Amino acid sequence: MDYQSILNTINDELSYRDVTGKVASYIPELAKVDPRKFGMHVYCGDRQHFSFGDSEELFSIQSISKVFSLSMAMRIMGEDLWDRVDVEPSGDPFNSLSQLEYESGVPRNPFINAGALVISDILVDQLEDPKQELLDFVRKITEDNSINFDLKIAASERSTGYRNVALVNYMKALGNIKCEVEPIVDFYFHLCSLAMSCKQLAQAFMIFANKGKILSTDEEILTPTSVKRINSLMQTCGFYDEAGEFSFEVGLPGKSGVGGGIVAIHPDQYSVAVWSPILNEKGNSELGMKALERLTSLTGLSVF
Ligand code: GLN
Repeated sequence: MDYQSILNTINDELSYRDVTGKVASYIPELAKVDPRKFGMHVYCGDRQHFSFGDSEELFSIQSISKVFSLSMAMRIMGEDLWDRVDVEPSGDPFNSLSQLEYESGVPRNPFINAGALVISDILVDQLEDPKQELLDFVRKITEDNSINFDLKIAASERSTGYRNVALVNYMKALGNIKCEVEPIVDFYFHLCSLAMSCKQLAQAFMIFANKGKILSTDEEILTPTSVKRINSLMQTCGFYDEAGEFSFEVGLPGKSGVGGGIVAIHPDQYSVAVWSPILNEKGNSELGMKALERLTSLTGLSVF
């Protein structure tokens, strides 16, 4: 498979000029990002790398990081985790407060904000230094010690994060939050602020395409069962109320963030990350989705 010529075709065919959405503006830091940015990186099971454009530039990965925190919680809690968070697609926007009350504060899945906040509660409760351990985890699976938080983004998340604070309070009132609100949201705002490039994301997500093992060292980070569960959650819940559309167009498990990044994996074949900050009305990268649709069509490699 000539991945590089397929990526070159995608880069030639698609342009930010052809999409009509807008860059995220709920915090000033994200609104400042250049809408013309476009990069893509494929990391294959045979350890080859292919890319184009702004694939090595750092951007705010936002909700893509919810896959990292879920992975850490699964390593700690195993299957007990599912008492605290459900595994059903929500069909609601990412920051929805609905569907919580009649399920006793148990969020529909770990990738909506409510679910990621319950996961944050678990990590804050169980880990001595959760923010550092998050960085250690992401640096380890990416094999890159330069990865860090963007503290300006974290501060902006905090200054606008009333809805997330409300979600934690509401779930605490319903009995599904153990720790105090402040350390949970502090962890969550930092989680959202992780800055990574497409290259780093493709490298990190290779564990989900490689049955839970780091490709270069063969070290097991997650059990094959945990990886199966995380991949199926990415397939059904990775794109908020557009998970069906992503599955229909692209046919891979994946996760998006409002910074315009999308990561997806093909078990045993490749991991891929794409970045274009212009979002559609569901909060997913408009050009990123098109690029991934072209990738699975031109390679013939989706999971279906
Ligand atoms: N930081 C956003 C929030 O918590 C979520 C980011 C995302 O990518 N959906 O509201």
